[in-house]
Amino acid sequence: MHLEVRNLDKHFGQFHAVQDVSFNVQKGHLIGLLGPSGGGKTSILRMLAGLESPDSGDIIFHGQKVNQLPPQEREIGFVFQNYALFKHMTVFDNIAFGLTVKKMKKPAIKERVQELVELTGLAGFEHRYPHQLSGGQRQRVAFARALAPEPQLLLLDEPFAAIDAKIRQELRTWLRELIERVGITSIFVTHDQDEAIEVADEIMIINGGRLEQKGTPWDIYKQPSTPFVASFIGESTIVDEVSLLKGFDHEQSHPGIHALIRPEYIEVGHASEFPFLSATEKGTVKHLHFRGSQWLVEVQVGQHSLITYRSLEKETLEIGQSVHVMVHRAYLFNDQESWIAENR
Ligand code: ATP
Repeated sequence: MHLEVRNLDKHFGQFHAVQDVSFNVQKGHLIGLLGPSGGGKTSILRMLAGLESPDSGDIIFHGQKVNQLPPQEREIGFVFQNYALFKHMTVFDNIAFGLTVKKMKKPAIKERVQELVELTGLAGFEHRYPHQLSGGQRQRVAFARALAPEPQLLLLDEPFAAIDAKIRQELRTWLRELIERVGITSIFVTHDQDEAIEVADEIMIINGGRLEQKGTPWDIYKQPSTPFVASFIGESTIVDEVSLLKGFDHEQSHPGIHALIRPEYIEVGHASEFPFLSATEKGTVKHLHFRGSQWLVEVQVGQHSLITYRSLEKETLEIGQSVHVMVHRAYLFNDQESWIAENR
């Protein structure tokens, strides 16, 4: 295992910011740390970097414990959201910085910088200063600078947060390809679930200082291990009367059980569209939003407003119309446990 984190714990005064976090990362994988603000993502990253020391727990890199090593001896590269380039240095000198510190010879530095400007698509920009670059280009310089000394681990803290939506989208694809080409183990902090899902091999959901779940984006979406994870990833409606789920086992409709339902597991339509009406509930179309390739339908069933999609090929629905609603699958949970239930 390339990186192993064991029982990492950190307080800031009385505040328990990181609570017993353990995980492993395979060589060359890109891990996304995802979660709400204040959850502890940056604190975990800072401990890996050696910028903060844990109260307890171990950080093991290549089988070696690095807890006591200062940041510069950990062979780690960083990229943060606010560029942090040296303003008075050219692109060349920014990228060369870590190599100069390592006292690498000039011709070797030149060769390495050349490799990096090519790798990051910055050839021809070597003599510019940061203020002569766009936000996306500056961030690419930051990646080149971080990669120049050939670190073993790359830590990225919201590297695209300060960049426009369109360029951010391009940079995600660019980053994915860059990491694959370099083959470097990377950890990426974000609070944007689309970004994590698109870029990461595996996602770790961090909330309230705890690791709630680690898995591929697909696993986390399909098999969320806690209600928090289920509601944090993807769109959903939470329903607190499970009796509303026709066609599900009745023993599941105890008070205190909630159901989380994703749009793709809700079918809405006219009576004639359902083979078994006994497995449907009646509802009323509340809102219809045209989404280009389909309709987003908001349907009122009892106390609840459910969100689903309907294909453009089907007969259009009207606002206020009575419809049938079938829930195919739901994520049920109470205070203690959670499970997935299907319509029989
Ligand atoms: P964000 O997405 O907002 O960056 P985060 O998940 O990265 O959040 P952290 O920055 O790790 O969260 O912070 C976790 C908690 O620890 C927060 O409540 C924060 O206020 C607190 N915290 C972080 N650093 C310190 C510090 N040096 N002193 C005191 N409290 C701190």
